[in-house]
Order: sequence, then C-alpha cells, then structure tokens
Amino acid sequence: MKKIIITIDGYSSCGKSTLARQLAGELDYLYIDSGAMYRAITLYFIQHRVDWTDHIQVKNALRDIQLEFVPNQITGRSDMYLNEENVELMIREMLVAEKVSEVAAIREVREFAVAQQQQMGKQKGIVMDGRDIGTVVFPHAELKIFMTADPAIRVERRFKELYEKNPNITIQEVKENLELRDYIDANREVSPLRKADDAIILDNSQLTMDEQLELVKQWVDDAVAVQTP
Ligand code: C5P
Repeated sequence: MKKIIITIDGYSSCGKSTLARQLAGELDYLYIDSGAMYRAITLYFIQHRVDWTDHIQVKNALRDIQLEFVPNQITGRSDMYLNEENVELMIREMLVAEKVSEVAAIREVREFAVAQQQQMGKQKGIVMDGRDIGTVVFPHAELKIFMTADPAIRVERRFKELYEKNPNITIQEVKENLELRDYIDANREVSPLRKADDAIILDNSQLTMDEQLELVKQWVDDAVAVQTP
C-alpha cells in the first residue's frame, strides 16, 4: 500500500501523541513527536544557561545540539536523546514545560527543528504531531488532522498524566501552563499554531480512544485511496 504523510496538529493535551502513536503502530509508520525536540532544546538552554533573548547565544548553542530519537526496547517507544543522553523523562518536567513555548517561538530554533523534521519525512510513512506540521513542516501532506478538545477535559487529562509522576502538582498549575502555552503557540510571529486550510478537525471531547482511532483509520484509507499507485 502506498505510504503517506500524516500530520496531527492542535492545542496542548488534546491527545495528539496518543493518537499519532496508535496510528503509527497500526500502519507500521514512523512516529515523530516534534514537541520532544523543542523540549530537548529548551532543556539544553536551561542547563547551559543560554540567554535565549540573545540571537547570537541561540545560534551558537544550536551548533552544539544533536537530537536523536532512539527506540526503547522496554517501552516499545522512542526516547529523545540530547547529545547522546536519554532526556525523555527530564523533558516532560514542569521546569521545561514552563519555558518551552518561549523557546519554540524563536525563529532560529524553529528553522533548526523543522529542517530535521522534513528530513525524517523524506521516505513518507510517517505520523508527526505538533503545532505547525500541516502548515509549515509538511504543507503537502496527504492527510492533515487538527485536534481539539474541551479545555476542561484537556486540563484533567494532563493533570492525571503529570500527577502519576509528581503528586505535588496542582490542577491550577497545569491549567495555567496549558493556557499560557496555547496562547504563546497561537500568537507567535513565526509559524503560529493554526489549522491548515485542508486539515480535518477532530474534536475528541466526546470520543473514546477506540472510536477516535476507527474514525481516523477511515480517513487514512480515504487519503491512501486517492493516491496514484
Ligand atoms: O507537543 P508538546 O506539548 O510536547 O510540545 C511542547 C511545546 O513545543 C508546545 O507547547 C509548543 O510551544 C512547542 N511546539 C511547537 N511546534 C511543534 C511542536 C511543539 O512550537 N511542532
């Protein structure tokens, strides 16, 4: 069957990565979590005290950053490696979540990440989730999905996920972080979060994961069917 590119964009905590991972598993496609790349860059900037308001410092720091997704045999997922160190757990922490949208709004950072993301899609057969994947990274993707869900449901989902790792976290903290990130992501000058004109909206507030997957698999079949062999 002909392989396509599937992009999944949307607000924070809509379940983009869950859907993307499931789809990639079903289709035997590569799954790329583009947000992990922005998180890893942010972690590097924090660790190395890079002043990201200074373009020269940003450019120099990016030269020293090497990102790689490495399959983890135990979890069956890919972990984010930053300069050969597994940073998968660290990049999910609040310290990074609080700063990532600021860092991801920097033009040089985006150019650095987007070039690598486009390279990963060269062979097609990829599902990538993020904020600008259908608009900037793969504007010619065969299937574009824009996910959304009720804000209260998104906060609850992210809270549950983070609470398992850190019982000190409060729902208010999670709510504020999601609101702030969505605001910065949608209002930044470079590649703001927006729905591509040809993206299909998926509101999963009232859908179970199975229902959602079935629906999207149908969209994939339709998108593949219109491709010339
Ligand atoms: O997807 P995730 O929530 O892990 O992404 C973290 C942050 O990275 C987002 O809030 C956004 O600021 C940034 N991001 C982005 N473009 C992408 C993916 C993520 O700006 N394609």
